[in-house]
Amino acid sequence: MRGQDLSIAKEFKEMGYGEALESDAAALEWLEKNKRKFGHFIDGKFTKPSNTFKTTNPANGKFLAEISKGNLSDIKLAVTSAVAAQKRWSSLNSHERAKYLYALARVIQKNSRLLAVLETLENGKSIRETRDIDIPLVVRHFYHHAGWAEILHEEFKDYEPVGVAGQIIPWNFPLLMLSWKIAPALAAGNSVILKPAETTSLTAIYFAKLCEMIGLPKGVVNIVTGDGETGEHLISQDKIGKIAFTGSTEVGKRIRKKTAGKGKKLTLELGGKSPFIIFDDADIDSAVEGLVDAIWLNQGEVCCAGSRLLVQESISEKVKRKIVARMKKLRVGNPLDKSVDMGAIINQSQLKKIGQMVSESEKEGAKVFQTNIKCDAKGCFYPPTLITDTEPSMEIVREEVFGPVLVFLTFRTPNEAVEIANNTQYGLAASIWTENINLALDMAPKIKAGVIWINSSNMFDAAVGFGGYRESGYGREGGKEGIFEYLKPKGHNSPKKVNRFKESRKVKTLDQTADSSIDQTRKFYIGGKQVRPDGGYSSKLIDKNGNFVTEVGLGNRKDIRDAVESANLSSSWSTTTSHNRSQVMYYLAENLSKRKAEFCAKLELFVEPKDAEIEVNLAIERLFYYAAWTDKLDGAVHQAPIRANTLAINEPLGVIGAISSESEPFLSFITILGLALSQGNRVIIIPSRANPLACLDFYQVIDTSDVPGGVVNIISGSPGELGKVLSEHLGVDAIWHFGSKKYFSEVESLSISNLKQTYVSDGESMDWSNTQSPVLKELLRRSVQVKNIWIPYGE
Ligand code: NAD
Ligand code: MN
Repeated sequence: MRGQDLSIAKEFKEMGYGEALESDAAALEWLEKNKRKFGHFIDGKFTKPSNTFKTTNPANGKFLAEISKGNLSDIKLAVTSAVAAQKRWSSLNSHERAKYLYALARVIQKNSRLLAVLETLENGKSIRETRDIDIPLVVRHFYHHAGWAEILHEEFKDYEPVGVAGQIIPWNFPLLMLSWKIAPALAAGNSVILKPAETTSLTAIYFAKLCEMIGLPKGVVNIVTGDGETGEHLISQDKIGKIAFTGSTEVGKRIRKKTAGKGKKLTLELGGKSPFIIFDDADIDSAVEGLVDAIWLNQGEVCCAGSRLLVQESISEKVKRKIVARMKKLRVGNPLDKSVDMGAIINQSQLKKIGQMVSESEKEGAKVFQTNIKCDAKGCFYPPTLITDTEPSMEIVREEVFGPVLVFLTFRTPNEAVEIANNTQYGLAASIWTENINLALDMAPKIKAGVIWINSSNMFDAAVGFGGYRESGYGREGGKEGIFEYLKPKGHNSPKKVNRFKESRKVKTLDQTADSSIDQTRKFYIGGKQVRPDGGYSSKLIDKNGNFVTEVGLGNRKDIRDAVESANLSSSWSTTTSHNRSQVMYYLAENLSKRKAEFCAKLELFVEPKDAEIEVNLAIERLFYYAAWTDKLDGAVHQAPIRANTLAINEPLGVIGAISSESEPFLSFITILGLALSQGNRVIIIPSRANPLACLDFYQVIDTSDVPGGVVNIISGSPGELGKVLSEHLGVDAIWHFGSKKYFSEVESLSISNLKQTYVSDGESMDWSNTQSPVLKELLRRSVQVKNIWIPYGE
């Protein structure tokens, strides 16, 4: 009696947690039933396991199953199946497709516990997370997209499916990333071939089984397991219309390069080093709880982890104390234990990488604080880690760790916080903590990131777009924004019936004459000024009757560099009000219409007078058209089923480098200029090679229309050469190429220098004259990037 009393008293005093293990019996039983060996899911059937590799539990090193590594013939089989299936799938009506997505949501929900356990067994993340976060979000994703399938024909009238989507996902949120890829693709009428990460294939295989169970038509979903080599086979398939990738920036760039010029749509969701900013007026306890979520959720193996903490100097010691106290309470251990906060790292090599980055920082003079953890020695565990006394140049401050490692930095003023936050090549997410809503909403647009969480962190929902700026990738997943990524405008690149301006292509130029009569040369327009070609080279422009018209400058690398510098300096164009921008654009349109006769005459040198007039009239109309859109390309308010609204705002891309079209040279030039100006971008345009005269002289209209210097820059010359320089320049944020197809591959390859968004399209087959063309609308959408700002309300 007395003894029992004592032990209760002791337990009470220690208040320790007992182990509360979730049963893994059902998951193991399923593995056994399949003899722990799995093939691919292709054309609605599982293939015989072959060429297998082992998958293990990172929390204890135990063998789980053998998985097949897909080779080229597996991928080809999947492509054949997916191509055939897509035709049938897209011919179903919206409601039919929606029913299948709905059935998937239901069946995942019914199997949610087993899926949560299986995910924990293979990934090492805690059962608390797989059960309460991953799987519920997966279910939500399928329900949400069942809805998009239902209303697709109504909401995306001018669009059609891309066809077959090839999808490659990482290991950090295996089933959640699968749902982010598969649900929107199917809703938009595509079929898919998905390759899970080599370390986490089991829940994808179980998902395939669920597809079979609900009778999803064969070939609509194909799962091919394997590693990077399997992934390479997948991205190399010509019949795949779109690649969606989530993973490291390194592999993302490689995929961009490998698919360059192939005409595939591409979305990349890559790494990050996201800032978590705490101001001195923040609710510090809430901020610290938010921080725990930001960096220690999923062992910090989160692309949008708040891994760079920025604390206002006056509260930095206090915040540090609270973080350390909180870190000591984090429970690390067996991920199947329901009271464990942090489970195991994915594998030994990731564990080693984390350890190396931390010890390297220590060698460089940083201070490392870690809590003591007692875990299974055979498991890949790493303690929660706080790193202070850092320098901005240290690798640990700049590079993604993808582990439970937080870097501690301080700042004094909001401007300094913005500067530090943006001092990275990444731009995935940011958290801002302050009780001052004005400050929060002032910061949000200044931070270059695709997702901003105000007084919150790591909030996700199927209705809200997710994705990065800069080298965190491009494209959005989730919500309406995400559906666009699986569609293309109808009639895209289908050749025009009539090419009214084909004449202009016959025009000849004589190249590379180091000319003595340099003063006759048409100059460039850079930084709001007329500038001579740096190299002093020009070419002769010859009209339709073979007569000499003028010398045209041949731009070089230095000219482009100067233009990019000017464009970067004129950033106030991006932040001025849309009303101001539209006023300037209306002014441009008006001034061009006043000088209509003059511009017609310039074009008449190269085309028939009738065609010249049509083109100038359309150009005037086009300027009015995009001026009208300036303050109307509204974002959205997403209403997620959580206590938060999300402002999805359209922000400019920044500096666009554009190669104009050879057909309809003036109209295409004006279209690009109008598109760029409308949404606050700055632009460097290379006009048509054969017929640049009206474009080069358009500077006169710009000069009289209050367009700030540097916002529009015009440089003539070789589209191949100048396009190349623009594509690799780090100061250019996006590249649009409407020149010859032969440059597409190089342009897209070189774009990986800073992961520019690219839009390449054969300008000669585009219908520039038709304002109703879905391609011109699509370009408007592509002239912005969506930033989602989460604003929580209530408690
Ligand atoms: P990874 O980019 O190599 O792998 C992601 C996926 O791409 C996997 O399915 C992989 O098999 C596949 N893949 C790899 N090489 C490929 C290739 N050449 N062609 C096509 N597919 C290929 O990532 P990883 O090796 O698993 O992790 C390395 C680092 O990447 C991590 O330390 C972390 O920094 C980062 N990472 C980021 C995310 C994210 O969500 N942003 C996710 C996982 C890893
Ligand atoms: Mn890798």
